[in-house]
Amino acid sequence: MPLAKFPRPAQLRVRSLATSSTAKPALSGLSVTGKSRAEKISQEWKGTSATGGNSKNFIGGEFVESKADQWIDVVDPASQTLLTRVPETTSSEFEQAVDAAQQAYKTWSRSSVLTRQRFVMDLQHQLRQHSDAIANSIVLEQGKTYPDAQGDLLRGLQVVETATNIPTALLGDTIEGTWIPQRADFRWVYALGSSILLFHAAYTLTCSFRYSIAPFNFPAMIPLWTIPVALATGNTLVLKPSERDPGAAMMIAELCQKAGLPAGVLNVVHGTVPTVNAICDHPSIKAISFVGGDRAGKHIYERGRATGKRVQANMGAKNHAVLMPDANKNHALNSIIGAAFGAAGQRCMAISVAVLVGNAQSWLPEIVERAKKLKVSQGFEQGADLGPVISQAAKQRITGLIASAEEEGGAIALDGRGYEVAGYPDGNWVGPTVIEATTTMRCYREEIFGPVLVVIKADTLDDALAIINENKYGNGTAIFTNSGATARKFEREVEVGQVGVNVPIPVPLPMFSWSGNKGSFLGDIPFYGHGGIDFYTQNKTTTALWKAEDAIGNKASVDMPTHH
Ligand code: NAD
Repeated sequence: MPLAKFPRPAQLRVRSLATSSTAKPALSGLSVTGKSRAEKISQEWKGTSATGGNSKNFIGGEFVESKADQWIDVVDPASQTLLTRVPETTSSEFEQAVDAAQQAYKTWSRSSVLTRQRFVMDLQHQLRQHSDAIANSIVLEQGKTYPDAQGDLLRGLQVVETATNIPTALLGDTIEGTWIPQRADFRWVYALGSSILLFHAAYTLTCSFRYSIAPFNFPAMIPLWTIPVALATGNTLVLKPSERDPGAAMMIAELCQKAGLPAGVLNVVHGTVPTVNAICDHPSIKAISFVGGDRAGKHIYERGRATGKRVQANMGAKNHAVLMPDANKNHALNSIIGAAFGAAGQRCMAISVAVLVGNAQSWLPEIVERAKKLKVSQGFEQGADLGPVISQAAKQRITGLIASAEEEGGAIALDGRGYEVAGYPDGNWVGPTVIEATTTMRCYREEIFGPVLVVIKADTLDDALAIINENKYGNGTAIFTNSGATARKFEREVEVGQVGVNVPIPVPLPMFSWSGNKGSFLGDIPFYGHGGIDFYTQNKTTTALWKAEDAIGNKASVDMPTHH
């Protein structure tokens, strides 16, 4: 299946694939701390570099240099320093990754569940031991602050820890009786698999792989939403990390190997649209896990479903926080500001809209004052609250949406455009921004994915609910109130999948499933928790009858058997 069959569609975003670009030479723009951590990454890790070397593919248990003729620069968003380059994986390399996953599936899917549990336990240990290295990579490539980068990994680790329960999670049901045949429900593995596309193979099928495709904003957490669950259920996987920050995924692949994962069970290929399209079309891949933006998500869902794959696609969001006048004010304002501007607003569960109800409208000046105090800087710098946005293009898009609010009559209460950070003149800086807007404006309707809080005023809780329910997205929402009755009404009536009551980022713990809905999700089975197990397995039932004596008579009954 040559990738040339899948040219990058003109309407899709095309990244610069030039081998030389505007990136600054490796190490030149990094601080002393940044340099030493980048050098350590390059020295100690097989699959990635932070000093300008190439990222490798991970195929059949080997970190292999790609023969690609197109490479994508990965740069530090605080300085544009070249960290690494990722290949647009060639068609033959992609086929090798799929072959490796298919071959490994034959034995991994039949391995004891205790073997797979042991692997997940050892992976947990490896991830904890190397959490600093992974966080360093995230700060350099993604731009998060160091404590936030640790949080990125720790949220993924919680999924790994929950997956250590895999033998219990895979228990089926049985029923036995004198007059009814024995019946047992088993779960058999079905696979998903690659770097934000995962594929896996079903036990009863010749082969099924899973493929996983990831976004840039959680380079560790999102691969870890899929890897432990897919592998613990006996699938093999191909992962395609974000081409903007692949380092954490490469480290995780190496740690899987250190934790004893057999060759070929997890493979990593890099690339952009051609690789993703090849995943969607490949007949051996049985399922795709995708997390990212709307355009890619809809495309992958439709194209993957067209070839019969199971697809789950987590997509964009516009998350509203409702601020009631009876809320604990300090807690509510601090929570909303932390959730709006943390990670420079580049979280799918970031609070991007605050709905101020009734007298809470008078708190707007305090929101602005508190947002102003946040320190924007490179992620290793002392006291940094938020870092740069991921790319120059993202900065342009964000500042363009702020400008559109001005043009449409919105009031910019705090303007983060033109923000400068000493020592980092070339960073993709956008300072915290607060816009008083209405629901017809572009800044409200479109996902901004930057440090911008849109403020909407509402007279009553019913008005606030109507605003949220009319919004096309359904990822997360929160209410701040001291009234149980108000909270209960909100919880019942809001049409959003993940609801926080006095909690700003209500991401479900990994024993539950991700539950974003409406325009934020395509598919039927969610990530991790019970949903994760269901997504990566196929149910099978066996109905059996064993009797010592033979049947009486020699006439077959042709009536439908009812087992009574
Ligand atoms: P993105 O859609 O640009 O990229 C995600 C992945 O899809 C990457 O691996 C990329 O290579 C691939 N891709 C991009 N465009 C493609 C196309 N046209 N065809 C095929 N593949 C394509 O997303 P991003 O900018 O990396 O991440 C930010 C987005 O992800 C935001 O919209 C955010 O809300 C969303 N997100 C959602 C969740 C969630 O759980 N709902 C979590 C994290 C991020």
